[in-house]
Amino acid sequence: MATQRILDFLATRRPNGPCLVVDLDVVRDNFRAFEKALPDSKIYYAVKANPAPEILRLLAAMGSSFDTASVAEVEMAMDAGAPADRISFGNTIKKERDIQRAYQLGIRLFAVDCVEEVNKIARVAPGARVFCRVLTDGEGAEWPLSRKFGCVPAMAVDVLRRARALGLDAYGVSFHVGSQQTDLAAWDRALGDAKKVFVTLAEEGIVLKMVNMGGGFPTRYLKDVPVAQAYGQAIFSALRKHFGNAIPETIIEPGRGMVGNAGVIKSEVVLISKKADNDNVRWVFLDIGKFGGLAETMDEAIRYPIVTAHDGTETAPCVLAGPTCDSADVMYEKTPYPLPLSLTIGDEVLIEGTGAYTTTYASVAFNGFEPLRSYVI
Ligand SMILES: *Cc1c(COP(=O)(O)O)cnc(C)c1O
Repeated sequence: MATQRILDFLATRRPNGPCLVVDLDVVRDNFRAFEKALPDSKIYYAVKANPAPEILRLLAAMGSSFDTASVAEVEMAMDAGAPADRISFGNTIKKERDIQRAYQLGIRLFAVDCVEEVNKIARVAPGARVFCRVLTDGEGAEWPLSRKFGCVPAMAVDVLRRARALGLDAYGVSFHVGSQQTDLAAWDRALGDAKKVFVTLAEEGIVLKMVNMGGGFPTRYLKDVPVAQAYGQAIFSALRKHFGNAIPETIIEPGRGMVGNAGVIKSEVVLISKKADNDNVRWVFLDIGKFGGLAETMDEAIRYPIVTAHDGTETAPCVLAGPTCDSADVMYEKTPYPLPLSLTIGDEVLIEGTGAYTTTYASVAFNGFEPLRSYVI
């Protein structure tokens, strides 16, 4: 939802061109809601969701930790005031020299999902803590993370055993249930897998200490989603069920759930046209598209709420497309988007729920369009 602060900002500043406006008050509320929903878990904000320095500074000051994917993100978190012991290098795919650089910066917590990555860490980050990511099925997620990250639980046992043998601290298990996960039971399945790894290694005297339960917490787009409290309860019951009264240290890594609903993109209708006189579907072209910040409309996965000044009047289905000269720059076509018939060229529209995965998840200057501007207020 566009907050009053965002609407006031747009009304007074009248920024030219498409832009994202993020309301820090919403980020603050989200952080507090996660703290309240999962009081025993440490929050590692997934920097990739939106690395705006104002957001990182706010979260660092509130005591958040940070999940980072590169040395650049490690440095952004540190510049925002996070000490190295509140930063995790959570990408399972890292160059050895980047691991080394992060280690020099003081980072001691690294993700792995294979012995090859463990070998790198052992060479350049001696004694570091490592956690092994296990695969999840991604069921129930609107943006599943596929098989790119993680290994099967049986292999996680080998990976962590190897870590211990090489002098690393075999610290725990991680998973990510898939982004925009609306099935509360997803964490239960993944925690069951994590528990298996704990049990097998405990039999060999390797006592894991931590479960990193990843991100996946949703933002409300067109459909209602469960509130943070419901996730907290489901996750706590699953922890009890699988770990009894020996619940390990836990981490969550919200990205979308922390910033998604804090941002709104202002865009302008560039063109409305038809492909034939008798077409009943209009084409609506905005000044932002798949390459300018709406990459998550790929495969029509994320459907953003679009607000116009004509809402409440009669609508008709539209194909929604971006402004670039690439035919892939179409957001919604398989499932057309209903927009008011009175919408006209030059109208402004607000694309809600766009605080996550927009500003940095875009091309640099495709077709000469400048990167999405962002205002954090
Ligand atoms: C992207 C990512 C996250 C954040 O996921 P959301 O679904 O946006 O909450 C958390 N952890 C890791 C390791 C990630 O790659």
